[in-house]
Amino acid sequence: MGIPKLIEKVLGVEVIMKHILEVLGDARTIGIAGHVRPDGDCVGSCLALYYYLKKATGEGIRVDLYLEPIPEKFKTVGNTDIIKQENEESIKYDLFIALDSGSLDRLGFAQEYFLAANKTLNIDHHISNTRFAGTNHVEDNASSTCEVLFGLFEEDKIDLTIAKALYLGIIHDTGVFKHSNTSEKTMMIAGKLITKGVPFSQMIDETFYLKNYHQNQMLGRCLLESILVLHGKCIVSSVSKKTLEFYDSTSADLDGIIDQLRITEGVEVAILLYETDLHEYKVSMRANGFVDVRKIAAYFGGGGHIKAAGCTMHGTIHDVVNNLTAHIEHQLSNQTSEQEQ
Ligand code: AMP
Ligand code: MN
Ligand code: MN
Repeated sequence: MGIPKLIEKVLGVEVIMKHILEVLGDARTIGIAGHVRPDGDCVGSCLALYYYLKKATGEGIRVDLYLEPIPEKFKTVGNTDIIKQENEESIKYDLFIALDSGSLDRLGFAQEYFLAANKTLNIDHHISNTRFAGTNHVEDNASSTCEVLFGLFEEDKIDLTIAKALYLGIIHDTGVFKHSNTSEKTMMIAGKLITKGVPFSQMIDETFYLKNYHQNQMLGRCLLESILVLHGKCIVSSVSKKTLEFYDSTSADLDGIIDQLRITEGVEVAILLYETDLHEYKVSMRANGFVDVRKIAAYFGGGGHIKAAGCTMHGTIHDVVNNLTAHIEHQLSNQTSEQEQ
């Protein structure tokens, strides 16, 4: 089979690949990693690529996958015991692939392997992607990294496990096909994955909507304690470390809370903060209208998408909220003055 020539642009840094196997070359050892605090797209894309490479490459090629501990609910996708959760050995990979990660620091402990590798590849869909690898394949109009991967896989090599993993990423990053990143292409791909036998109703319920008792209590508490600022255009809620511990929960148990905050009538931006350390907060932001939350997250050292972004901030909770809302207010007032012109 002839290998289509790569189309290189931006001084050869950005590469439009036709097929993932094009970049493997003579690599015998391949490492894969996704971002810290893995979400559905991160877990889905990493598992899909792992199983695809296992299937599509011949015997004698070693493929390793590195991720921080993944939420229990994602373990139904396939055998997740293959995931390595720490730097178990010192190894220099022929090729290391970063998935769903907008910048190198997002790889967490796996950065060490990425930096040591002979060749590196970055496959992603974040508009904020810093093109940190030797070869970068970033489709910032794609709903998810899983959608990008589907385009790089040969369809007939996608088995049920790979299809389930891809479907997981797509439903999580699109909020089950409701966010504005959902396109006709997203739906076509989802359709093809369903044809492969993905148990979609069950997967959507079990990985997206199902909450345990503690998770529901945390949701209730966040809604109860939320405050409206900027004349009702912004809603803010926070979770302290103590509260997380009280409910015997981790940050993974906060999934979905930001989405509930976002659908409060009249709100332009929803903010959820959780304490990660003394005076350190992980910030999640979601926008409904014209506020670009990626810009705000990027200003504070984070990133993401226009309508969904995050960062880590330091200071008291009041400092953090004041700093964020000042940026939101600025964007809202610019918009108002543009509308008046
Ligand atoms: P989250 O609010 O954590 O669900 O993240 C929303 C989006 O922003 C996702 O696409 C994340 O990958 C991205 N994101 C979240 N936190 C950060 C961060 N600290 N740096 C860069 N991107 C982030
Ligand atoms: Mn992600
Ligand atoms: Mn993603």
